[in-house]
Amino acid sequence: MEKKLQELKTRLLEVNDLNSATAVLQWDQSTYMPPGGAAARGRQMATLGRLAHEKFTDPAIGKLLDELRPYEESLPYDSDDASLIRVTRRAYEKATKVPPTLLAEVYAHSAAAYQTWAKARPENDFAAVQPYLEKGIEYSRRIADCFPGYDHIADPLIDFSDEGMKAETLRRIFTELRRELVPLVQAITAAEPADDSCLHQYFPEDKQLAFGLEIIKDYGYDFNRGRQDKTHHPFMTKFSLGDVRITTRVKENDLSEALFSTLHEAGHALYEQGIRMELDGTPLAGGTSSGVHESQSRLWENLVGRSRPFWQHYYPKLQAVFPNQLGNVSLDTFYRAINKVQRSLIRTDADEVTYNLHVMIRFDLELALLEGKLAVKDLPDAWHARYEEDLGVRAPDDRDGVLQDVHWYGGLVGGAFQGYTLGNIMSALFFEKALEAHPEISDEIGRGEFGTLLRWLQENIYQHGSKFTADELIERVTGGPLTIEPYIRYLRHKFGELYPL
Ligand code: ZN
Repeated sequence: MEKKLQELKTRLLEVNDLNSATAVLQWDQSTYMPPGGAAARGRQMATLGRLAHEKFTDPAIGKLLDELRPYEESLPYDSDDASLIRVTRRAYEKATKVPPTLLAEVYAHSAAAYQTWAKARPENDFAAVQPYLEKGIEYSRRIADCFPGYDHIADPLIDFSDEGMKAETLRRIFTELRRELVPLVQAITAAEPADDSCLHQYFPEDKQLAFGLEIIKDYGYDFNRGRQDKTHHPFMTKFSLGDVRITTRVKENDLSEALFSTLHEAGHALYEQGIRMELDGTPLAGGTSSGVHESQSRLWENLVGRSRPFWQHYYPKLQAVFPNQLGNVSLDTFYRAINKVQRSLIRTDADEVTYNLHVMIRFDLELALLEGKLAVKDLPDAWHARYEEDLGVRAPDDRDGVLQDVHWYGGLVGGAFQGYTLGNIMSALFFEKALEAHPEISDEIGRGEFGTLLRWLQENIYQHGSKFTADELIERVTGGPLTIEPYIRYLRHKFGELYPL
């Protein structure tokens, strides 16, 4: 058995190395690569991706997984070896159930759809993407049908990024959340809006970057195993547990852009850097689902980084960096500015309270598209109707409406949006548990100390990598299933202090 396990690990390490090499190329493409490198880079990444897929779907891996089943069953569920075999088997089944010819068609479609969208969005031309979106939905259904036995056609697609989550459960949770959020947004936006003009002054790039780096160093981001570079759309990437990188983007007339994207990506990176070194190079060495991953970026960005105790400590430091811009701005004014809530059209610019409404609109619409209850040609109107109903705003065109996110035009439709809102819900769930175990965390945040919080997260979440599904992890950490209550408590408490609710 030991020999077979070793063989499995050796094969998985090769797959891991190919995928990590692709990640380096991707990081370079998004940071330093000159435009002339684009065509060859696309081909190079496709070649590595194909080799990794071939190696991973090799029937020899399936045979090893079968032979290792008795060994796996003799071990405790949460042991490294049993978890490695179990998690690899699930990934292997997913990777082998989709015929390679269908996969190739989807890749080709994705590239064409993306290019069409990139041109159609600035031109406000929904008609141009309509046939691609129709095709994308057809492909999504065909991919889902490779996994028969689902309850809802979106379930297999959701399972790719949030394993174990089901459309019906999500629909129930999101309906509960929407019921709470819509009146909350109405109450907040009926009040005097916060003045955030203090954030829109001239803030030199180098000083902004240095300030963000100082904070994430205090968070515990390990620069011996990471670095930060600039990009267009900030992301976190990992080449090994010894090299977990983040990126940010700076706007010199908007202080919140670089600052909060840095804190967000650092949250993702703290998760990856916190995984036990013994798991490096295996399929267990990564966050467990898009929802849990997003819970950590949101926790460090919002629950910590937009909290009052946090700024009681950091605001005087920020004022010292920008005395001309912020010297006469009070902590209270600044705190209100970074927590401004408003009805808006663009998801990625939305605040903590309205953000989930943007996500849930997309989630419901893609379910309706997949179910065949909504035709693609009627999508722009359905979009506008839901924005008016939930957020009370209507985009003047499709550019800031149905064309705004790349997700539906980058391949499959379904399974990509729920993780953002799951992340918000889970961020409060986990944070509340950490505070319950260590009530001193709030005071520590007020002193710029994050060790107790980080250690709790490492112990309870990070160290396990992807051993447990999101549901298993939530059960282990909280003793119960996913619930929106801590998140609602958090929003009501925080925004009840800022606005008359
Ligand atoms: Zn994120």
